[in-house]
Amino acid sequence: MAKKSDQLFERAQKVIPGGVNSPIRAFKALNGTPHFIETGQGSRFFDADKLQLIDCIGAWGAMILGHAHRYVVEAVKKAAVRGFAYGAPTESEIELAEMIVGAVPSVEMVRLVNSGTEATMSAIRLARGITGRSKILKFDGCYYGHLDSLLLKSSEGDDMRGLPDSAGIPPEFAELAVSVPFNDPEQVGRAFDRFGDQLAAVIVEPVAGNMGCVPPQPGFLEKLRSVCDGKNTLLIFDESTTGFRVSWGGAQELYGVQPDLTILGKIIGGGLPIGAYGGRNDLMNHVAPVGDVYQAGTLSGNGLSVAAGISTLSILKNGPVYRDLEQRSKEFEETVLKLAENYGIPIRLNRVGSMWTMFFAEEPVTDLVSARKSNLKFFDRFFQLMLGEGVHLPSSQFESAFFSSAHARKDIQQICERINLVFKRMSKEFEDDLMRW
Ligand code: PLP
Repeated sequence: MAKKSDQLFERAQKVIPGGVNSPIRAFKALNGTPHFIETGQGSRFFDADKLQLIDCIGAWGAMILGHAHRYVVEAVKKAAVRGFAYGAPTESEIELAEMIVGAVPSVEMVRLVNSGTEATMSAIRLARGITGRSKILKFDGCYYGHLDSLLLKSSEGDDMRGLPDSAGIPPEFAELAVSVPFNDPEQVGRAFDRFGDQLAAVIVEPVAGNMGCVPPQPGFLEKLRSVCDGKNTLLIFDESTTGFRVSWGGAQELYGVQPDLTILGKIIGGGLPIGAYGGRNDLMNHVAPVGDVYQAGTLSGNGLSVAAGISTLSILKNGPVYRDLEQRSKEFEETVLKLAENYGIPIRLNRVGSMWTMFFAEEPVTDLVSARKSNLKFFDRFFQLMLGEGVHLPSSQFESAFFSSAHARKDIQQICERINLVFKRMSKEFEDDLMRW
């Protein structure tokens, strides 16, 4: 009998493009059927066939406390009874804004929106409005949401141009973007030599998460800060993923480099839709209704997302979450590296706190080009075998995995035991490939 997930996927494809509401969920690269999830609890979710899976996706980083955390559920229930949204301001919005301002070093003022994409789009408009310039410098392999002005890939030539990365994006938008490799200060310098006076902003994921996890190399973020200062270009950190993930104050706290504007999302809504952009008062006061850069949202600051966000941040602030996440993630890294060595499987494990990617690669992965050198045949097999062992990893080599505070040491040990089984199997299946590698 067909599995319920297969049946649901067939049904979904009739009414939802590709059967999913966001492309990565479709397993397209793997020619597989996604598991339809019925419930989540802590570090696990349960699919439509009642199969229990250890979740290493964590809603792409949003679920730092795991699924259905009691305290967050209670906060959302209470907020729901009070009403969802009013089209008028509430005290809770101030409370969440105060928590963000208290945590993120460069943020003095913040505007709540409904998604990371919306936050980036608004921050780009703000940067253009403030500077009166149009061009944006971005990095190959980083993702900032699906806004027209940034859904661009590199032309891979020497001209540093962006090219539309989707049908429907006018080439004129791409002309406003300059794209260079991540972690390459020399190319950044060259881009500034050529376009510096035209650049409204540099936007970067301070820890790249969307070509797999790729940390910044020492000095890279500092270089961005100094070239931006030299040309009065605004530096934007897209911390949608890293904000409240790699530390309480995000990547800017961890690496000690302050951007002018910060994008947030995911964790600040505790798993409900949200985004935010913030920065210094003098910059944020350009936003309407005070300033002349327009931006608005019917459901921005809605009661449910804000309640989930406040309760999530309260737990993060007052508990040992970051210390525990680091300890367990480090243990995971050490164990997996040893296992890979034992079986002679070349891997690179990139990790910042609880955000990580295992690349099947011999050389360090520091940018999109090196990420693309990883062995996708190995990744695909690894992903499928791990799923068979009840561990749901991101279905692409070019995505980050996440642990939550609900991943107890026992869960991490279980994941490692299963990786051991899978590596053992792969080392036999791919014996010839490994000899040639
Ligand atoms: N920026 C980064 C770094 C992201 O990882 C994402 C989503 O994965 C976004 C922006 C877009 O956020 P959203 O999907 O909420 O629009």
